[in-house]
Amino acid sequence: MVHARKQKSIAKYHAVSHAASPAEPAAEYGPRVSSGPAMQMPVLVLNASYEPINICGARRALVLVLKGVARTEEEQGTILHAARARMPMPSVIRLLEYRRIPHQTRALSRKNILLRDRNTCQYCAVVLPSCELTLDHVVPRSRGGLSTWENLVACCHNCNRRKGNLLLHELRDMKLLREPRPFSLHTSRHIMRMIGHSDQKWRKYLYY
Ligand SMILES: [Zn+2]
Repeated sequence: MVHARKQKSIAKYHAVSHAASPAEPAAEYGPRVSSGPAMQMPVLVLNASYEPINICGARRALVLVLKGVARTEEEQGTILHAARARMPMPSVIRLLEYRRIPHQTRALSRKNILLRDRNTCQYCAVVLPSCELTLDHVVPRSRGGLSTWENLVACCHNCNRRKGNLLLHELRDMKLLREPRPFSLHTSRHIMRMIGHSDQKWRKYLYY
């Protein structure tokens, strides 16, 4: 029952955080409410064996903790104040039961493609916030290109315009930084290490 209630609080918080504009924080949650960015902070997920296995958003991590599936190992330093819950935001969580990790790839989505490409235009290497990037079909859709991991890359609007409906070999000065591949566990590990490099709380779980 307690879990159900807490989850409801999270759901409510989520709803509010989407509805309220950044300039108008929901008064209901008081001045120390953890802001939207804290909810979106990446959280390192460890297997029960302490092996790092994934990264998820703080909101998802909180749900796992509230469900009793995981426990917080490291905290972000911010506190979530919702109607009935007051919880430290996690930075690292650990699953309580060991999970075999299947070698499957992540869902194909804009978010995951930008994550795979580290918000870097795969043609000119500029790094931009997600909202300033688009997805480019390497082989344009008009020429039979599919929406697949191998055919979608992060792209800045400039490069996207320049490329238009052309194939790469029809353009002299544009080429891919690297071959696009599915977002695998290997990619996740790489990203975990990149983030972990600058995050003390993550580092001890990522470098043995
Ligand atoms: Zn570009």
